[in-house]
Amino acid sequence: MSTPDVPRSVEIFDTTLRDGSQLEGISLTVDDKLRIAEQLDWLGVHYIEGGWPGANPKDDEFFRRAASELDLDTSRLVAFGSTRRKLGKVDSDDTLRHLVEAGTRAVCIVGKCWDYHVTEALETTLEEGVAMVADSVEHLRGAGLEVLFDAEHFFDGYKRNPEFSLRVLEAASERGATTLVLCDTNGGSLPHEVERVVGEVVAYFGADVKVGVHLHDDAGCGVANALAGVRGGATHVQGTINGYGERTGNCNLTTIIPNLALKMGVHTIPEDRLERLTPVAHHIAELVNMPLNPQQPYVGASAFAHKAGLHVSAIVRRPDAYEHVQPDAVGNGTRFVVSELAGKSTLQLKAREVGIELDGPTLNEIVDTLKRLEHEGYHFEAADGSLELLMRRAAGWEHDYFRIESFRVITDETEGRALTTEATIKVHVGQERVVTVAEGNGPVNALDKALRLAIGRHHPALEHVHLVDYKVRVLDTQKGTGAVTRVLIDSTDGERTWSTIGVSENIIEASWQALSDSIVFGLLHAPPAQSRARE
Ligand SMILES: [Zn+2]
Repeated sequence: MSTPDVPRSVEIFDTTLRDGSQLEGISLTVDDKLRIAEQLDWLGVHYIEGGWPGANPKDDEFFRRAASELDLDTSRLVAFGSTRRKLGKVDSDDTLRHLVEAGTRAVCIVGKCWDYHVTEALETTLEEGVAMVADSVEHLRGAGLEVLFDAEHFFDGYKRNPEFSLRVLEAASERGATTLVLCDTNGGSLPHEVERVVGEVVAYFGADVKVGVHLHDDAGCGVANALAGVRGGATHVQGTINGYGERTGNCNLTTIIPNLALKMGVHTIPEDRLERLTPVAHHIAELVNMPLNPQQPYVGASAFAHKAGLHVSAIVRRPDAYEHVQPDAVGNGTRFVVSELAGKSTLQLKAREVGIELDGPTLNEIVDTLKRLEHEGYHFEAADGSLELLMRRAAGWEHDYFRIESFRVITDETEGRALTTEATIKVHVGQERVVTVAEGNGPVNALDKALRLAIGRHHPALEHVHLVDYKVRVLDTQKGTGAVTRVLIDSTDGERTWSTIGVSENIIEASWQALSDSIVFGLLHAPPAQSRARE
């Protein structure tokens, strides 16, 4: 059997809102789902699977609100469901009724294509298994809907009993399904198998019907399998943003789309929207409240980050020699990572990135300072905020947001009562000397509260600055309590995030360094007060 030509164009079907939300730790509100759908439409995917109407009140509300609140330009909303129950009637089937009532123009229904699942999981005959698919597709077509058929466990079923698996597909196609989506539900297939099986199905059905793929990433081949499926002739690819999904996830659309578009010459989303990939991936990561893996291909923060001090000047001259695609094609950018290995040129680039011009002697001085501090335990790669402040200070900058006279932290343990921590801060802010006391659930929390109390009135922008993560690492455990402690604090003002660092033999001092850098950085980059709307 000859392999069909690689298609010129592939439909992108996003299932983040249905399959993606199966990921442990994700819980989306209806508002989150609506915002994600808007992002997907802005990105330009062809289909957005919104959920399973009737399965839970949240998905019902989503489809109800989507009808009036979502104004989709490029994407078509899809409701997901299953075939009718075994030995049931389509007219009285709740699942099918909910699908029709969801009010979308397209629906996607899943049906069993592995004989073993029909006899063992459904506990019915193969004939009834086929009839469930045929009747359901026919019923939904009769209601005027576009029907996509998700062929569950297709690859596993086809490997064992191809006749049955094809019989189910044929039934769906004959009754009017527009797209047959071959699912690797257990996610264990490998690319050469996917390419062969898709090729055989495409050859079997000819041009009568679209063939798609829906692949899970259990063998770490989700993206590779999608590309293999397209090489086999699939013209429809399902997946999720950032690869969210049950177990190890679904195939990752933020990797598949640029691979198809930039490397295989296959049309996916509109070409001029490819650069929206990185912002959309990050925005959706924020909506699902999971930090985006920095190493994620194309869209991760480290995807085009270069650390090699020696090569940096060459990277600047000839980026194409060191980067597999142009980062701006997917909305990302080249970044230079500064560490003790960094040469002067990396540092200069980093300074320019944040808008500081440094002369030769200052650069030398910073290189020496960095080497010394990294030797002491600082790690500036992970603390871009502190690095920027260090460069600014070296260039002669000094902040005048506040000046600390002294601080003190007391932790009390009284029998029968919880541990209490209290911080006292004496600080000069403007012309004033302020003394504040605050309680907290630990020293960092108490210090943070006391400082905010002291300077917050003078710096209202501070109310938008929040600490989001606090990490402590003891660097030389052999010294026991005399070891050096490294504290990293991540902060955000809702628009940007930054990291700051402190190192000391004393954990409170290390925390204080990271904390005060975090506050100074936040104030330095706060938008002018008048442009900041009050929430
Ligand atoms: Zn799935």
